[in-house]
This record gives sequence, C-alpha cells and structure tokens, in this order.
Amino acid sequence: GWSAICPSPVALLNAACEAPRPDASALLSLRNAHFAKPQKHYYETPPQIERGWREFLFDMHGRCYLDMVNNVTTLGHAHPRLTAAVAQQLSLLNTNSRFHYSAVAEFSERLAMLAPEGLDSVFLVNSGSEANDLTIRLAWAHTGKKNMLCLLEAYHGWTVASDAVSTSIADNPQALTTRPDWVHPVTSPNTYRGPFRGPDSASDYLVDLTNKLQAIDEKGDGVAGFIAEPVYGNAGGMALPHGYLAGAYDAVRQRGGLCIADEVQVGYGRLGEHFWGFESQGVVPDIITIAKGMGNGHPLGAVITRREIAESLEREGYFFSSAGGSPVSCVVGLTVLDILRDENLQENASVVGDRLKAGLIELMDRFPLIGAVHGTGLYLGVEFVRGREALTPATEETATICERLLDLGVIMQPTGDHLNVLKIKPPLCLAPESADFFVKALEKALQDGF
Ligand code: PLP
Repeated sequence: GWSAICPSPVALLNAACEAPRPDASALLSLRNAHFAKPQKHYYETPPQIERGWREFLFDMHGRCYLDMVNNVTTLGHAHPRLTAAVAQQLSLLNTNSRFHYSAVAEFSERLAMLAPEGLDSVFLVNSGSEANDLTIRLAWAHTGKKNMLCLLEAYHGWTVASDAVSTSIADNPQALTTRPDWVHPVTSPNTYRGPFRGPDSASDYLVDLTNKLQAIDEKGDGVAGFIAEPVYGNAGGMALPHGYLAGAYDAVRQRGGLCIADEVQVGYGRLGEHFWGFESQGVVPDIITIAKGMGNGHPLGAVITRREIAESLEREGYFFSSAGGSPVSCVVGLTVLDILRDENLQENASVVGDRLKAGLIELMDRFPLIGAVHGTGLYLGVEFVRGREALTPATEETATICERLLDLGVIMQPTGDHLNVLKIKPPLCLAPESADFFVKALEKALQDGF
C-alpha cells in the first residue's frame, strides 16, 4: 500500500484509495479509433488524465500521480498566475500575428535579452518541430549550401526537414534508411555505451564529424550547418564529453557552416546550473531553437539568431506563421518567464535535482540493474543494464519498472534507442518531498525483482 512508501502528496491523497487502478480502456479505444496519431502507449492501460496541479496529475477517478516525465509543463500544472494572464489576454485580444500589438515586441525583446549578445532576432512559431524546420531553412538561405550535420539518435521534430535530421531509431525505425542525401549523421558522443567512454573522449568522437566534413569538402558541396542538442537528450540527459561542441563548432565554422543549438528540451533553466544547455559546453551557437517549456503546455516555439542570418531568409525565402507569436502566445511566454524568475525555478531545478540525483546514486549502490545515473538539474536519466560490464540494455525490466511505478503513483516512460532509460524531466517546481517519493517508489519497483 501507499503507506509503505513515504508521506508525500501522492501517498497522502491516495491513502484512502486501496482499490486497483481504474480501467480507462473504453476511452482509450475511442482515442485509438479516431485520433490519427500513431502514438506508442508504453503502459498496457494508460491512466486517463483529467486534471493537473503543480507536479501532480489526477485521473478520471481522482487518483493522483507524480508527473516525472513532463518537460512541457515547466512551471507545473494549472499555474494560477498563468491562467489569469491568459484569461485576461483572451478577453482583450487574440488574433493573427500579422497585426502589431505590444506583447510581441515585449516578448521578442525579452528573448533577445536572454540570448547571448548578438543573437537579437526572434522568429515566433508554435512548436519545436517548426522552430527546427525554420532553422534549417535559415542555414540553407544564409550559406547557400544544403548539407546539414546532425547527431545520430537525436530527435528534432516531425516536419519534413526536422524529421530528416532526426535519426532516433526508437522514434522512427526507418530513420537511417529514408534519410535525404543532404543529411549527414555523426556518431553521437555517448560516453557511457558508445565506442569511446568517459568525459574526456571528445577528440575521439570529433574524428567522425571532421571525416564527414572532409567528405563534403571533397565533393565540393559545402556545409550549411550542424544541429545538436547541447546534452544528449535521448540517452537521458547525458552530458556531452568536455569540449565536444567547441571542437564541432570550430570545424563547422571553418567551412562556413552555422551552428544550431536545439534547446527545446534542455533550455529555460531545466539544467539548474545554466539557463541554456550550450553554456554547459562553453559555446555560443549561431541559432537557438526553443519550444516546450517556454509555453508551459501552450503551443509556442522560437528561433533566436543574428540579424544578418534572419535577414537572409527575407532575401531567399518566406516566413509567416498565422498563430506563431499571437497575443495570447506572447503573454504566455512573458508570464512563464516572470514566474520562472519570481519562483526561482531554475534554482529549484538545481537544488532538488541534486537531491534527486543523490538519492538515485544511492539506489545504484544497492541495485546492479542501475548501470548509471546521467544528467544534471531536473533533466536526469536512469539507465538499466544486465551487467555493468556487458551493458546489455535491460529493456523488458525497464517496461516492468514503469508499470510498477504507475501502480505506485508515478508517471514515467522508457526512452533511448534501447528503451532502457528512465528520462526524468518533471516540472521545475518539483518539491523535495516529491523527489524523495520518487526515489522510494523506484526502490520499491526494483525490490520486487524480475
Ligand atoms: N527538439 C527536441 C530536442 C525535442 O525533444 C522535441 C520534441 O520532443 C522537438 C525538437 C520537437 O518539438 P515539438 O514536439 O514541439 O514539435
């Protein structure tokens, strides 16, 4: 029962609820019949979620779950200040972004102020996929070249261009065979299970990148750009080896290409120590893409770049988004930034993230199935292996652990190309008690054996 774990809102709210998890299969069949999204359901019967509050979700029967996987709702669910700001703006104006209104000027300025000096031109869109698609078009327009480098096993979106640079086999099994010829994937620097291990392996990994660049040089085509997340998201927020991005950016820039940081998951304070992921690698990109957390669930994305890069699209192409940067979207964006600052959420990510990571590392000492704990702040990964030498991915065990966690009141899903990683990315308001509850729940899920 719940009391076997530790007191937390999840346990307390569910204390009286000893009944098995309710069946949501009727609505699930309806969804599967009519919602045309080939969504993988990691749970046999996913809970039907109806409400959220802070880092908690409530299903149709009022059962409470700790949301450890939602990196969209950065501030937490149903934040009253955000709700009030949206309601007020909706009651005044929401319209096609073609018009001129104050929120768009204020929000673009705020984003430019947050970005490194010189990156002061902002495009507003509705999602991370759109932002990354636009960024590839910017690289093409600015350089007049077509070739893009990307990291293997990364995800950048579903639109034609962002999908082309996404080579995550777990998300898209055809990713490697259906790639257009302008896409050049480079070995991802996985310092845990890749060909080179440890934080000092950057120069070994950079060989593949420079070889790909040389091959492009030899064909005389030139390079348009290099897109990468500043931490290895798909592997559970694993840090890139020291100096990897600096080396990659140098090599790409020497050949006239642009360097793009996909901050859709990691940016906006999630890493705790840094607001932007690229700061952890000591580099400054030419283009930054953001989405997810910047809208706290509202569809909002952005591309931030230098003026001369932005202007190249005006010469070589066209950009207009009807709802991208609408009055409501801009008010959402501004209010999210205000709340992040006023509630010290980046600092909370750092403090509670450290506590959570320490708890997970303690578990690792007792359970050999945990091969590693990756990441920093509230972007952590727990990797399960059968044998710390062999590193065989414990895929089935990870699925079982997720089912057990759900029964204990924690929403989590397997990730990575072997689906053997728990990628932990809760709202940044995560309370210390909730972090402790998660560690206890994982301990219980592991104790039951396999
Ligand atoms: N880039 C990264 C790193 C992502 O994780 C995602 C989504 O998971 C995207 C881009 C695409 O964002 P969206 O789903 O908002 O289109």
